[in-house]
Amino acid sequence: MTKKILIRIDDVCPTMNWEQFEKAIKLMDALNIRPLIGVIPDCKDPDLMICDVRNDFWDYIKDLQRRGYTIAMHGLYHTFNSHYRGNIVSRHDSEFAGLSLDTQIHMIQKGKEILNKHGINTQIFFAPGHSYDNNTIKALSICGFKYLSDGKSYKAYKKEGIKLLPCRTGGVPRLYYGKYHTAVFHTHEWAWNNKAYCYKQFKDLLYTQASNIVDFDTFCQQPEGCLFAQEANERLYIFIERHVRPVLATIKHLI
Ligand SMILES: [Zn+2]
Repeated sequence: MTKKILIRIDDVCPTMNWEQFEKAIKLMDALNIRPLIGVIPDCKDPDLMICDVRNDFWDYIKDLQRRGYTIAMHGLYHTFNSHYRGNIVSRHDSEFAGLSLDTQIHMIQKGKEILNKHGINTQIFFAPGHSYDNNTIKALSICGFKYLSDGKSYKAYKKEGIKLLPCRTGGVPRLYYGKYHTAVFHTHEWAWNNKAYCYKQFKDLLYTQASNIVDFDTFCQQPEGCLFAQEANERLYIFIERHVRPVLATIKHLI
């Protein structure tokens, strides 16, 4: 089965680690790979205040877009002030999950206006920390979005008019099953000693799978499964992640 892999680069903002980000850009350009990049409209996350603000940030992003990169909106501030657990994650920190529908509409609209003000229009969203709830999906629909790059279902599915493109694993996906895979990378982490190996994984994936890597326009055309079956499949996957994997990890540790 021919694979179709989307490269997704998260946490793009004016104060990110530019050295690491540009390493990714250089490699993708050399191999003619066009990723989905998640731009934070108004980053207030202290963990992403790494370099001095780059004043030509928005022109730089628009230049990437002109060169075939696809831009997604990645949250609003990239902060984690809500302590509710999102639909598909285990941690109880979120920018969106647990907030009222009105609040989420306001936040998503605000993020969209910031991007529009800088000449960027997108119908693609993904939430910080993969943390969203059903109100996020409704709010995205009301605000005119069409795609959410997230979910733990086996196949893509549509809810509230939003197509959820699953993203089952972080980093390099397990390619031995299924046809469509999203590979998620956080370039600033490559500067950390304990995450330096992720750059090597990124590079290896690009070199070994270059012919299977597609742009977002191709990737988003993947067929949809039925809502009921895919939600059930997603719930089962999350149950295993939250309750079965930790037990197995403990047993493995004891053995
Ligand atoms: Zn993020």
